[in-house]
Amino acid sequence: MPAIMIGMPRSPRAPIDLPAPGLGGLGDRLVDGFGRVHRDLRISLTDRCSLRCTYCMPEQGNEWLARSSILTVDEIVRVATVAAADGITTFRLTGGEPLLRPDLTEIVGALAALRSPDGHPVDVAMTTNGIRLAERLPALQQAGLARVNISIDTLDRDRFAALTRRDRLDDVLAGIEAAARSGLHPLKLNAVAMRGVNDGELVDLVAFAIAHGAQMRFIEQMPLDAGHTWDRQAMVTRDEILASLSRRWDLSPVPGRGGAPAERWLLDGGPHTVGVIASVTAPFCGDCDRLRLTADGQLRNCLFSTSEYDLLPVLRGGGADADIDTVLRGCIAGKKAGHAIDDPAFLQSARGMNAIGG
Ligand code: SAM
Ligand code: SF4
Repeated sequence: MPAIMIGMPRSPRAPIDLPAPGLGGLGDRLVDGFGRVHRDLRISLTDRCSLRCTYCMPEQGNEWLARSSILTVDEIVRVATVAAADGITTFRLTGGEPLLRPDLTEIVGALAALRSPDGHPVDVAMTTNGIRLAERLPALQQAGLARVNISIDTLDRDRFAALTRRDRLDDVLAGIEAAARSGLHPLKLNAVAMRGVNDGELVDLVAFAIAHGAQMRFIEQMPLDAGHTWDRQAMVTRDEILASLSRRWDLSPVPGRGGAPAERWLLDGGPHTVGVIASVTAPFCGDCDRLRLTADGQLRNCLFSTSEYDLLPVLRGGGADADIDTVLRGCIAGKKAGHAIDDPAFLQSARGMNAIGG
């Protein structure tokens, strides 16, 4: 790949090797080779977590990111500022567990102060397991957090403990209660559907979400577990999820999905809805507008990508904003049409979901 060299980096990795730029430059929209305009940046704040969900992390033996490589608040905000100038309007904080970052409120405040090129405020959202959300939510809201998605795969305490390897269902429920009271809207609850684990509980999860003024969304399990245990045959599919829900409700599709990962259905004509994120059996890559920044400064153009675009040498080596923009554009230029999970040659990313940012 052709490289652009920029001068005088402080980093031991010198000189800085930048990928060839995609179309445009700082202040232009981020458009990939398939015409997809990118508007959403998922920022992983840490690979650490308070849970150990079986589909995401192994119980032990995780190879943690080096603490020295984790982006600081200033580094995150610097990348986000360039991204906002390039047309990113939504920043979603994730992890690992973003609530483990002590400086989370500061990050939210700095991101919420960003403006898009037309002067509109950007949107700052967070995906969390909800543990300790109750105590931190008022400050986060005050800082400008606009929305939260909370993951909850089961309402059964023993099942929760087995699935997450931590007996913390009550803490998650407290987080959901707090989010429901906070008025942040829409509140979305996420569950990975798993055969023989929670696939008998889908209707109960939807009813629970409705009772909390939230929208339930089911996710097909993806090959992103750090333990590499994913099994295509064992996975609960979108069609199975819909079949299970339609025994209880009449489902009618909600039109106008746009680039959203979830397809949505009205329950008995509405107003309540349920969503399904079917990355495996009904991929939505054609409308993807998302980019990812890992906690250690790697840009990724897809959850399933095996390539990363390293921002650390630029951020820590004296690079200019135009150089951050160049790495962003190189990442966009390298984006493929789709993830090809179903291709027999598909290669799972070396990083687990906790280290990529879901
Ligand atoms: N810790 C936070 C949480 O659990 O919401 C944020 C990070 S987590 C990686 C983000 C989302 O990814 C969660 O909703 C989780 O259920 C989902 N996820 C993790 N591993 C997954 C997998 N292998 N397949 C599908 N979804 C997965
Ligand atoms: Fe932690 Fe979220 Fe992964 Fe569960 S899915 S282990 S809560 S990062």
